[in-house]
Amino acid sequence: MSSLTEVTAARVRRINPSPSTAAAQRVRELKSQGLTILDLTVGEPDFDTPDHVKAAAIRAIEAGETKYTPVNGTPRLRAAIAGKLRERHGLECTDAQITVGGGAKQVIFLALMATLDEGDEVIVPAPYWVSYPDMVRANDGTPVIVDCPEADGFKLTPERLGEAITARTRWVVLNTPGNPTGSAYTAGELHELAQVLLDHPHVRVLTDEIYDEIWYHEEAAPSLAAVEPRLAGRVFLTNGVSKTYAMTGWRIGYGVGPTDLVTAINTLQSQTSSCPSSVSQAAAAAALTGPQDFVRETVSVYRGRRDAMTKLVNDVPRLGCAVPDGGFYLLVNCQDTIGQFTPSGSRIQNDEDFARYLLDSRQVAVIHGAAYGAPGYFRISFATSTDVLTEACARLATACAGLSSAPSA
Ligand code: PMP
Repeated sequence: MSSLTEVTAARVRRINPSPSTAAAQRVRELKSQGLTILDLTVGEPDFDTPDHVKAAAIRAIEAGETKYTPVNGTPRLRAAIAGKLRERHGLECTDAQITVGGGAKQVIFLALMATLDEGDEVIVPAPYWVSYPDMVRANDGTPVIVDCPEADGFKLTPERLGEAITARTRWVVLNTPGNPTGSAYTAGELHELAQVLLDHPHVRVLTDEIYDEIWYHEEAAPSLAAVEPRLAGRVFLTNGVSKTYAMTGWRIGYGVGPTDLVTAINTLQSQTSSCPSSVSQAAAAAALTGPQDFVRETVSVYRGRRDAMTKLVNDVPRLGCAVPDGGFYLLVNCQDTIGQFTPSGSRIQNDEDFARYLLDSRQVAVIHGAAYGAPGYFRISFATSTDVLTEACARLATACAGLSSAPSA
């Protein structure tokens, strides 16, 4: 058999499989060996897709909506997306500014593919969603990682943004509310960042707002394009139905932005997938335009878990975490475990060692922070049952209590 180097293009050799997908695979393997794993790695809601959404998909199948759709999505879904942006943010967009793809992930990938040439730079604030840097590399670009420490709420400051911009900068990625941090930019913070960007007209902003509805404050999560209308022509807003409506498997995401960019994305889509699934688009339109009780109910469950989990984690000596504004993740600081010895005598050198120790000794699966550009941290997903979460926290406490500053004799 040929080696990977012989059969693959350089772009594949530059990137790695997604660490979260790899972690999910490891959990599946351990479970298949009969082990009971408390899995806190999942990046998807633990709820089922709402019934009225499923019913819309079934109706679409029965009505024969089973053929190719327009490359950029069905008019009905695009109208639903425009409606959401108008209602939520007061943003107006034309039909030609909207494209629908196979998940926000694909839309983001195509946006980068449509705009990057070799050596073009993309500013990615860290901690980041695992896929951004590799998506940039796969499309010949250079990710410029900007560390955003916990003291800054894991958020990009205007100063750091200004310092990172060069003549080669094509994009800044802003994921708000963010994965893995749960931090979100306030309207004021977005306004400040926008003032820096106004001085650099060659830079576009890709906002990833996939967690916008899983949100724990009164006022809706602000969106950059609405906060600074002068920047709106340079913002590519991405979102989808995966998280809000528990529709990860339906694979529908969307992007809204400048027509030239959207047209370029559509050209690429026409030569790759042709269009997203017709049935899934019918379901997504029903999700966006139908009753929103599901969102209210699930967010209230997530909120309860968020409150319980932040308290439990902060009660564990050596661990700590901030209270997320949105999403269903906690980024837990485990710096005080580094350098400690486990009961079996091995030394925790980094967050990856700590995550492995948790899995091996307590069967709790988390994802180590370095995968997100956040060494010294690990990510917990609370998109799982309260029973599992409570038990996992008890095990976290036992695991930490088992650590000592010198190897046991
Ligand atoms: N952006 C972020 C920040 C995410 O966490 C995810 C899902 N893990 C996505 C985008 C992709 O979502 P989808 O492709 O399912 O729409």
